[in-house]
Amino acid sequence: MTSLLNEVDWKAEGDRCVELLQRLIRIPTVNPPGNEKPAAELLAEFLREAKVEPQVFESEPGRASLVARVKGDGSAPPLLLAGHIDVVEADASQWKHDPFSGEIADGCIWGRGAVDMKNMVAMSACLLSMIARSGVKLRRDVIFAAVADEEAGCEKGSHFLVNEHADLVRAEYMLGEVGGFSLHMKGRTFYPIMVAEKGIVWVRAKFRGQPGHGSMPREDSAVVRAADAISRLGHTRLPVHRTEAAQRFVRALGEHLPLPASAVLPRLTDPVLGKVILERLVEPAQRRVLSTYLSNTATPTVVRAGAKTNVVPGEATVEIDGRTLPGQTEEGFLRELRDVLGSEVELQVMRSMPPVETSPDTPLFEALSAAIRKHDPDGHPVPYLVPGFTDAKAFSRLGTKCYGFVPVKLDPDVSFAGLYHGNDERIPVEGLKWGLRVLADAVVGFCSP
Ligand SMILES: [Zn+2]
Repeated sequence: MTSLLNEVDWKAEGDRCVELLQRLIRIPTVNPPGNEKPAAELLAEFLREAKVEPQVFESEPGRASLVARVKGDGSAPPLLLAGHIDVVEADASQWKHDPFSGEIADGCIWGRGAVDMKNMVAMSACLLSMIARSGVKLRRDVIFAAVADEEAGCEKGSHFLVNEHADLVRAEYMLGEVGGFSLHMKGRTFYPIMVAEKGIVWVRAKFRGQPGHGSMPREDSAVVRAADAISRLGHTRLPVHRTEAAQRFVRALGEHLPLPASAVLPRLTDPVLGKVILERLVEPAQRRVLSTYLSNTATPTVVRAGAKTNVVPGEATVEIDGRTLPGQTEEGFLRELRDVLGSEVELQVMRSMPPVETSPDTPLFEALSAAIRKHDPDGHPVPYLVPGFTDAKAFSRLGTKCYGFVPVKLDPDVSFAGLYHGNDERIPVEGLKWGLRVLADAVVGFCSP
């Protein structure tokens, strides 16, 4: 490994990273409204101390994103480290420690953003600073983008940067959310690395019927038609589609888990057996997660009809949050939706973004896996698919190959999914420092000559 990593004072660098994360948590960048500017300015000041000259851009007053770069010799294209600096809200009355205190208690740094994802922002800033101070020779530029607005759809952060400043963030690869955390299952430790995320197709479904007086009920009213359709949608699993990402994930889990999981899991993506396995052999909590890997999904969320109790409205609308698997199209999804909702429904697409997929057969994925194994010899890196969406939607528009990789070691009794947008979000101090070392190994190793 390179000289940089041998000479680093990891105690000091780890402490710097902890302190930077605490300072970031103390800036309440709750989105909406976001107000990311003070966080971007804190990062800019931190980077300037290491003679890295960052640029801060505002998509709107107060909605700031930062871009910084340490140069390589240009013999290979850049690697981008990306993290969002906005967070979701937190109800302080439900937390053990103030969500914006950055307090250290029970070995953890507490606060909103501790794992989603001011930790990645702090680690990336620290890594750029370390690289700049050490003068280590790289063949790739390492770019760092700390972006606004991920939690409200990414338009004012990563999409803004890609639209307005593409040359500053164009890279061959990106590391961002979601992945790299430890996941404990049946005594084994896995590190899921995101290689694919689902697309979105948000749809407004309109149902029509005869309007009339509330004293004269009718089965063909818009409200009854909409209610029947919503009920069918809620109880129907859309068709199973086999995807490379889901197959690799369940196969990799199966390889390391004991029976019966090792026999059952790899067959989960089978179009026929999959549904049976899911219904009969998988626990309900895991079923909800695993089922999203097998099908497109359609969740009814907003329902609107009528304005007066005694008037039968002629129209009812339902907004549906659709998520599409890699390889699936908007048209294909709308066909599946129509099959459930009926041919009379009118569908209007409100927002659509395609799925993102990167092959795990790349030298970078290999480097990420190697860094994990080096620092946790019992850990198994596995490629996986995320049902939500991230800033990868924006950066992949530039042809960038995106992975979810924010290394963090959690205690075995803590699940990442429970911390994410949850109460008592926190990160173990040692788990963050561990993550910094893993990220440094992976990035410097991959970008060095
Ligand atoms: Zn996030």
